Amino acid sequence: MLQPSALACVRARCPLCGPTLLVRLNHSEQGVRCVRCGASAVHLSLGAVLRATCPDLRRRDAYELSARGPLVAWLRREVRSLTLSEYLPDVPAGTVRGGVRSEDVQRLSFADASFDLVTHTEVLEHVPDDRRALAELQRVLRPGGLMLFTVPLHDAGCTRERARRHGDRIEHLLEPAWHTDPLRGGAGILVYRDYGRDLPARVRAAGFGEVALQLPHPPLPWLPPRAVVVARKDLA
Ligand SMILES: [Zn+2]
Repeated sequence: MLQPSALACVRARCPLCGPTLLVRLNHSEQGVRCVRCGASAVHLSLGAVLRATCPDLRRRDAYELSARGPLVAWLRREVRSLTLSEYLPDVPAGTVRGGVRSEDVQRLSFADASFDLVTHTEVLEHVPDDRRALAELQRVLRPGGLMLFTVPLHDAGCTRERARRHGDRIEHLLEPAWHTDPLRGGAGILVYRDYGRDLPARVRAAGFGEVALQLPHPPLPWLPPRAVVVARKDLA
């Protein structure tokens, strides 16, 4: 949505598509975009940190937990091979519908040690059991493999669970919060938790060796910095 008072434009280098203009259409984080490739602030942050931490992208077999968009288009050009999936609840895991592979990150259908790189943006807060998801992502990474991801981070010491899943029933511990999902026609998807500063410890608990929060450099204009989690699976 365009807010005329927010309209601004600045020359920048997009980590995904090169020299470009960044435009601010409104005062929300979603209002900042690269005009050439359409990357959002989250994609720009992940791309910048990925370039800085992973200079050997061309030697990596990558898995991204979405099936389209500017980040997917960039990864397709940069990595050795790219596997994509979406969570399609009515499609069995590992099968393809409409060109999109269905996967539930809590029980992935991939063999152990299938990938050198895993990326996901704004996914984990929507997963009922994120510990199981992180353990699965660690399992499908090869030794020494990297996982980079973003979630909304809150200024709190501890992650706060907003909802719990009991089979098909959802228990709401706090007022339900929803994010819009373009793949489902803009329908809301439930936020299961608000991550706090204990996020790196949660990722380490899933079996990752090194875990750090990294900020994109140079920082994006107009916005507070968006931290990217960089997690490495141990070699042994
Ligand atoms: Zn771009």
